[in-house]
Amino acid sequence: MSEPQNIIAIIYDFDHTLSPLYMQDVTILRRAGLDPSAFWASCTALVREKQYDHELAYMKRLLEHESIRALSNADLRDMGKDLSFFDGVPEFFAELNALVHSPRYTEWDIHIEHYVVSSGLKAILDGSAIARWTKAIWGCEFDEEDGHLSFPKRVISHTQKTQYLFRVNKGLLSLDQDVNDHMPEEVRRIPFPQMIYVGDGPTDVPCFTVMKKNQGMAIAVYNPHDQSRRSFHKCYELSKHANRVHFIAPADYRAGSHLRLILERHITEVADMIVDRRRQGIARTRVPAPPV
Ligand SMILES: [Mg+2]
Repeated sequence: MSEPQNIIAIIYDFDHTLSPLYMQDVTILRRAGLDPSAFWASCTALVREKQYDHELAYMKRLLEHESIRALSNADLRDMGKDLSFFDGVPEFFAELNALVHSPRYTEWDIHIEHYVVSSGLKAILDGSAIARWTKAIWGCEFDEEDGHLSFPKRVISHTQKTQYLFRVNKGLLSLDQDVNDHMPEEVRRIPFPQMIYVGDGPTDVPCFTVMKKNQGMAIAVYNPHDQSRRSFHKCYELSKHANRVHFIAPADYRAGSHLRLILERHITEVADMIVDRRRQGIARTRVPAPPV
C-alpha cells in the first residue's frame, strides 16, 4: 500500500535556530548557580584531553554536580518554561500551518508537521512553549534512578541527527523501530522533497548535506542581533564557500520576514506539487466510459 505522501515536514535544530541562547545556560546551569562559560570550558577540556564526544562531555559534567543529580526529568520539563525564542516563535507554527488550510489543499488533506532535533536535552524542550506544535522532539536524554537523573540514555550528536531526518522520511517515529530497514520510496511517509531543515551552523552540516543530496530544502539562520556577526559569518561560510544550504536568512519568524517569505513560498510550491501529483494519479487510474 503506497502512502498518500500529503505531508510537508519542517525539521528544526533548537539552540541558535529557534532560540538565541544555549538551552542549558538559562535552565539547568542557572538553577544550579553555575557560570555557563566556565561550565562549557570544562566540557571542552574533556573533549580535548580525553576525546569525549561533545554531548557526553556536557552530560557527564552536569552529573558531577550534586544539585543536578538530585533533579528528575520532571524538574527538567518544568524548566522548559524558562526558554526564550527568536521573534515570531512559537506563533509562526500556527501561521505556517494555516497556509494549507484553503480548500485547494484540504481537498487532498495536505498538512504541515513540525519536528525538533537537538543535541540539547529533550526533557527541557518537552516542557517548553514549542512542544504542543511539534509532532516529535528528539534530543539527549537522561535515565532516572530512584527519581533522580542518572546515566545518559540517549545521546544525539550532530552526525547522529541525520538519523532523525530518515525517521521523519520513513515515518518511523518510535525509537524502537529500526530506521535502517529498507523502505521503497513510494511507501515512505514524507518524501525528502517535501522536507525542510532549518539549522544555524557547522553542527547542522550533516543534516544540510542529507537534505540537499535528497532534494530536500536546507535553510541556515543567523541571529540578526549578534553584534559580533559571528552568527552571520557561520551562515555566510555555509552558503558561499561550502554550498551547503539553499538559503540563509535572519532567525526572525514573524510574518513578512525574509525567512517567512522563503518558507511560505517553498511550502506553497511543495503543496501545489502534491496537488498536481494527486490529480495526475487519479487521472491515470480513471478508465473512460465506453462511447455510446
Ligand atoms: Mg544550533
